[in-house]
Amino acid sequence: MDAKGFEVRFISELKGRGVFANKSFKSGDTIFEELPVVCCQFSWNIAYKYAACNFCMRPLETTQDNVRRLSGQKALVLPYPECCPTDSSSHAGQTDGLEYCLESVPDAAWRQFHQTLCVGTEADCQSHPLQRLDEAWRQMHFPPETASVMLIAQMIATVRQAEDPEAAINILSFCHRSRSEEQQLAHKLLGDQFTSQVDLLRQLLIEALYADCVQQWLTPDGFVSLLALVGTNAQGVGTSPLSMWVSRVAALPLCPEDRANIDTFIDGLYDTLHEEGGVAEVGQFLNNEGAGLYALQSRCNHSCRPNVEVTFPHNSSRLVVVATQDILPGEEVCISYLDECVLARSRHSRHRLLRENYLFVCTCPKCELEAGDPDETSEESDNDSNSSEQD
Ligand SMILES: [Zn+2]
Ligand SMILES: [Zn+2]
Repeated sequence: MDAKGFEVRFISELKGRGVFANKSFKSGDTIFEELPVVCCQFSWNIAYKYAACNFCMRPLETTQDNVRRLSGQKALVLPYPECCPTDSSSHAGQTDGLEYCLESVPDAAWRQFHQTLCVGTEADCQSHPLQRLDEAWRQMHFPPETASVMLIAQMIATVRQAEDPEAAINILSFCHRSRSEEQQLAHKLLGDQFTSQVDLLRQLLIEALYADCVQQWLTPDGFVSLLALVGTNAQGVGTSPLSMWVSRVAALPLCPEDRANIDTFIDGLYDTLHEEGGVAEVGQFLNNEGAGLYALQSRCNHSCRPNVEVTFPHNSSRLVVVATQDILPGEEVCISYLDECVLARSRHSRHRLLRENYLFVCTCPKCELEAGDPDETSEESDNDSNSSEQD
């Protein structure tokens, strides 16, 4: 009945809504693709000169430049340059200090917020409240970053420029929680030592972006709601000219000798990047990193035994949800909010993380099955299971 192959359905007061398959999917099939409602690169990632389009996250560096920068080896020459995904002519250049790709600039969605977020010429940049907001955020969020206050700035800009601001607010209102739950989530996002600065962020946002149509988000409670929303719904986005080059090289029809040579080269390259190279100095990340809010993906509930995964095969912020096992009509489509190592831990550990970060108790099939297990955290000698609380 539904050509899309899935639908969003109300489950219960407690669980809210979820995404359900209404046809069969094979493992590896795409369930859906979507562009973010808002998306931005992380502040430190930009500060460390990771070059990505500020709208679509597409890399703006050639693979060779990327590898030279990350390894600190200025003369490094990358073989198979034809596998580089980045064409220097695709770079539209800077607009008020931020970089954009050529494809994004004519995009209507780009115009949706850029006009509002434009901070003017280089000279005006430093003193602009948005720059001060970004600066304040960076002081609260050292790498690894998990979210960005600029997502909130983009949400506000999107509503301000929308023809129907109220409809835009509705699209961006992902969840409804109690005030104390929101406080808890906002504090979790900022870190305890920074909670006193919530009001600084809010004041800077008001200074930069206040308009009557967004005033509900700029009250003390409204702003905490936004932080909670970003904290629980922001999806990490990573792009890299290197990983794209590596997968294109892997697909080349090479003779065994050339294949062996390039494999050795790539292994050595990654060793250099991880060990001796500049990666440690530039914040210990290889990728352009950012986060986005996705209307449909954020409707997918968590399971400790997920049947889909979130991927970014286009090397941009376009998200693709792919089945990791066969899915039958009527089955709920579930992603995991926890990464793979955490998923491998005991029910007790998983529950603690889900409770702290997302405020819910997981009742997925795996958790139900393990419900009788003792609460030991066994060999999980990780830094986040040594707090002394218990279930
Ligand atoms: Zn772009
Ligand atoms: Zn579970």
